[in-house]
Amino acid sequence: MTRSISVLGATGSVGASTLDLIRRNRDDWRVVALTAHSNVEDLAKLAREFGADIAVIAQDNLLGALRDALAGSGIEAAAGRAALCEASARPADIVMAAIVGCAGLGPVMAAIEQGTTVALANKEALVSAGEVMTAAVEKHGATLLPVDSEHNAIFQCLQGGKLAEVRTITLTASGGPLRTWTKAQLDEATPAQAIAHPNWDMGAKISVDSATMFNKGLELIEAHHMFPVGLDKIRIVVHPQSVIHSMVEYRDGSTLAQLGPSDMRVPIASCLAYPARMDTPMDPLDLAAIGELTFHAPDEERFPATRLAREASQAGGAAPGTLNAANEVAVAAFLAGNIPFSRIALMVERVLSETELPPAPQTLEEVLRVDEDARRRASAMLETC
Ligand code: NAD
Ligand code: MG
Repeated sequence: MTRSISVLGATGSVGASTLDLIRRNRDDWRVVALTAHSNVEDLAKLAREFGADIAVIAQDNLLGALRDALAGSGIEAAAGRAALCEASARPADIVMAAIVGCAGLGPVMAAIEQGTTVALANKEALVSAGEVMTAAVEKHGATLLPVDSEHNAIFQCLQGGKLAEVRTITLTASGGPLRTWTKAQLDEATPAQAIAHPNWDMGAKISVDSATMFNKGLELIEAHHMFPVGLDKIRIVVHPQSVIHSMVEYRDGSTLAQLGPSDMRVPIASCLAYPARMDTPMDPLDLAAIGELTFHAPDEERFPATRLAREASQAGGAAPGTLNAANEVAVAAFLAGNIPFSRIALMVERVLSETELPPAPQTLEEVLRVDEDARRRASAMLETC
């Protein structure tokens, strides 16, 4: 039976992995909407290849260019934030939410409001919106499937028992490319060094997050919302080989883990086929060739991000959204060469601690206001540092 899919963030790393799987199973899928930020050429190419109904470019001023690139194809072209939400709300059996950053929140919520299945890669959206998103999922009868490899692993391990019987959830972290660097070396880390991830090939923003450990911090908050066992039961362990993607320990002392290659097509396939399974082009797991799996506790002295995320999650309300927004601004500044690597965590900590946070957001509009407010404060901080 053919199923329909929209891919938000089609030109990115997760978008490409998703479309690779669709390409290998072309007859099983009909593509509804594809979206991108500003890469008109790639978006139009993908829309033509997959025969999408509509292609949406986030930047308003690129509508003419997108129309030109799609001329004669019969594919609808649209641009801007409202068009992004409209396309996300179009009926589709599954919506792959793979935009990076809180910019993806509006489209994710638009998809959730249709009560459809949303495969969520866009962790920043859930971190910012928190209960506002989980309540919308409940209200509209939507299904949220975790794409993030750790959360996908936990989701799979939770098929083996009840949430109420979970003793702990352990998120594994690769530790990123700068895992063994000293504090002094971290001060000198360049964008090229920070995005050179040893195990995963990902977009620039999540690669920097992986180097700072903010990725694991965001994932801690993401797990807290997706698997409500209580923050105190969610642990982090550094596991440099990235073979075990996460674990769930039950009250009887059994720990279930999900293992696999460091390729996002595995968790994406698990979402696309859920609750069944589908083929992927992965080699069989060869543990003898891998030889060793090692584990150690995170060092929050050198990488304070997981502590900051845990504190923000404990504080709740506007704190997680503020942490996320400040981090987005700081990462962009680091990638632009404007601040040193270690300033990222310092900036996030200062934005969280220097002013009183707004009250807990109750609606999407309030979540977006918290995000804007934190961005403004983080940007102002950049002027002064
Ligand atoms: P990426 O930078 O490779 O791609 C991002 C996509 O979003 C692109 O299609 C881009 O055009 C679009 N986009 C960017 N800014 C936008 C904006 N303001 N408005 C609309 N569209 C915009 O990122 P990625 O690595 O594919 O990551 C996407 C999301 O998935 C992130 O939230 C990331 O944390 C999460 N994720 C990624 C991986 C991975 O392996 N890449 C793994 C787990 C989770
Ligand atoms: Mg992850």
